[in-house]
Amino acid sequence: MALIRCKECGELISRTAISCPKCGASQSETFGNTENSSVGTCILSLLLPFVGLIIAATKMSEDIKTARAYCIWAGIGFIFWISTIDVYYLLKYIAR
Ligand SMILES: [Zn+2]
Repeated sequence: MALIRCKECGELISRTAISCPKCGASQSETFGNTENSSVGTCILSLLLPFVGLIIAATKMSEDIKTARAYCIWAGIGFIFWISTIDVYYLLKYIAR
């Protein structure tokens, strides 16, 4: 059975242990959960700029000013998406 170190006290415990037998700290894969939510956030924030671009494309023919505004917001969304991924990988690097 693989052993891991307790996140709280550093005691060697079973990988499958729900909590540390020594200090009682929960060993549930909190990092795995944050990873899943981060992936969800990444996908969501990736969708937003695309939705913005689609709206911009449909508005382009009728109102160029509004279309431009949507393009800017799509750009901001894209930058936000890039930064989200950067933060995600940075957190992953720190958590290692
Ligand atoms: Zn412990």
